[in-house]
Amino acid sequence: MAPTPERRGAAAPPAGGAEPSGPPVPPVAHLRVQRVRPAYRQVADELRSQIMQGILEPGARLPAEAELTRMFGVSRSTVREALRALASQHLIETRRGVQGGSFVSAPDPTKLVEDVGSALGVLVATPQLRIGDLLEARLLLEPAAARLAAQRADVETIEALRAAAHAPRDPRDPSGFVPHLDFHTTILMATGNLMFTMMGQPVGDVLRTKLDRAAVAREQWDEVDACHADIAEHIARGEAEHAEEAMRNHLLDLRELYEHPGTWRGRPRP
Ligand SMILES: [Zn+2]
Repeated sequence: MAPTPERRGAAAPPAGGAEPSGPPVPPVAHLRVQRVRPAYRQVADELRSQIMQGILEPGARLPAEAELTRMFGVSRSTVREALRALASQHLIETRRGVQGGSFVSAPDPTKLVEDVGSALGVLVATPQLRIGDLLEARLLLEPAAARLAAQRADVETIEALRAAAHAPRDPRDPSGFVPHLDFHTTILMATGNLMFTMMGQPVGDVLRTKLDRAAVAREQWDEVDACHADIAEHIARGEAEHAEEAMRNHLLDLRELYEHPGTWRGRPRP
């Protein structure tokens, strides 16, 4: 899926009337210096805002450091710090050489999803986030995703879902934990909605950190696999309501499994 930069509002040509892909585009500097925010952040915010509004388009070259220094009335090291901050957010990239400089990046959904994942990864490490919180959120997200997947999945996606549901266990991970997660990720992706994929990203991190995998027996993972196969078939047949319900029941089951792995026996299925 090719990302399309979303352009909000009027993408008016920048001051000076230069084409975005031509010579350096002078960003409009209308900074009011606030003592509370570091200068580099104000410079970065201004440039970011112009990128988000489409005033600076993907591929456009930013003015050279010396020029930015003059325009914003800040030191060269402040400009460098601002550029580093934008680069770390994947908004610009710096190329070396004669044709080098700082260029506005095309948005890359994969990188953005990774960023959200790593930011949430920090949250995951806090004791305030419990596995119950995660399951509660999944109960809102994943049944809806299963419904959408049943409505939207094409032949290729259905193949991928079936493959994920019947993936052989990795001998290095006899628990089945990884294919289990993959199946859930595949459903989120099958919605065709990047927000779902992104919101599901931290789930794996939380479970990796908080779930006592060793306490889950092989037979219990077999139960989980059987549920996955059911869900995959509902989606394959386009049974949106059944897919949603099966996913909800599966997650409620998982809550039991995660909270009482010693006694969990799964849900009796017809
Ligand atoms: Zn599952």
